[in-house]
Amino acid sequence: MTSNNDTLFARAQRSTPGGVNSPVRAFRSVGGTPRFITRAEGPYFWDADGKRYIDYIGSWGPAIVGHAHPEVIRAVQEAAARGLSFGAPTEGEIEMAEAICRLVPSVEQVRLVSSGTEAAMSALRLARGATRRDKVIKFEGCYHGHADSMLVKAGSGLLTFGNPTSAGVPEDFAKHTLVLDYNDPQQLEDVFAKMGDSIACVIVEPVAGNMNLLRATPEFLQAMRRLCSQHGALLIFDEVMSGFRVALGGAQSLYGITPDLTVLGKVIGGGLPVAAFGGRADIMKHLAPLGPVYQAGTLSGNPVAVAAGMTTLALIQEPGFYDRLAAQTRKLADGLTQQAKEAGVAFCADSVGGMFGLYFAAEVPQDYAQMMACDKARFNAFFHAMLDAGVYLAPSAFEAGFVSARHDDAVIAETIRAAAGAFGKVA
Ligand code: PLP
Repeated sequence: MTSNNDTLFARAQRSTPGGVNSPVRAFRSVGGTPRFITRAEGPYFWDADGKRYIDYIGSWGPAIVGHAHPEVIRAVQEAAARGLSFGAPTEGEIEMAEAICRLVPSVEQVRLVSSGTEAAMSALRLARGATRRDKVIKFEGCYHGHADSMLVKAGSGLLTFGNPTSAGVPEDFAKHTLVLDYNDPQQLEDVFAKMGDSIACVIVEPVAGNMNLLRATPEFLQAMRRLCSQHGALLIFDEVMSGFRVALGGAQSLYGITPDLTVLGKVIGGGLPVAAFGGRADIMKHLAPLGPVYQAGTLSGNPVAVAAGMTTLALIQEPGFYDRLAAQTRKLADGLTQQAKEAGVAFCADSVGGMFGLYFAAEVPQDYAQMMACDKARFNAFFHAMLDAGVYLAPSAFEAGFVSARHDDAVIAETIRAAAGAFGKVA
């Protein structure tokens, strides 16, 4: 019988390439029909057939307080009633900038934009403009949005579809992006020794979430910090995913490393489009209207989006928020690991704060190559078994998962019960 999801997917494909507005949503790598979502509440969403799922993508990170949190919805409604967009500054933008600077101390000044892509792209331009250098270093499997210079050996959807370097990026442009191995400090050292004086910046996901979850080693990030300082390059932490997700102060607070610039997104918009880049004031002053590095946006600092973001930032500062979030996420990872063990499936899981990774491998991968060696076919089968059982995991073996404050013990227990059956099916 054709489901409403099938009907919608067929219709969507006639007007939209692949039927979706962001590639991973299309279920291309896991197969099957994407679910069209009609509503969400707390840890759940419902598809066009009325089926309920426990949601572990949380809008790919933003939904940290759970979907449709009443306080967030109220703030959005009140802001919307005052007008949707002004194109002139508002006090809310100051409050948001002040909150970010307070919560992420390496950020002395910040600019609000509308997507993580825009924020990362602008931070790179700023780093190049401030240092007057062209070369940037990124790491294979990290994703920094879809600006040209970052679509080289990238993670997320590019990795999911086996095409990590996008077509349409001119070679003349891509040659300025040096792609190195994640968690390899020696390689970084060698490259800086050879060409340190032409490197504008190093950009990194300090906890990588776009090639599944991969933790940086402290030595790797420390080497990066030291080499950037020695050679006059800027260190950019892309915390679009890890910011306000692995800890209140982001991955930089967990590792105790101070980047020069930080890129934020996802959680700071609370489900509406807000992202930001910020850092040292002496670097930020290169931005227009003060300096020669241009960046702008019709909807930057949009008042409705800022209202959603500010309310979310208030909720995550409640005492014990991150302890509870990390404990629930760990409970999930441990519970899944236990069920896999009982089913005799080579599987493990890891979590950092409210982010988790699932690996069909005997051990938690420590680098990109080990990540690529995980059993993708088994992940795909597990994904579908969980989906059938009402648990929506990321539809790709190369994405991290996200837990919200509304994933309470009952929700985690239901997920683990579903996993017991799913592991049995893939054993
Ligand atoms: N940087 C990181 C680390 C991300 O995970 C993402 C998106 O997933 C981006 C940048 C791009 O953000 P957006 O999708 O809002 O453009």
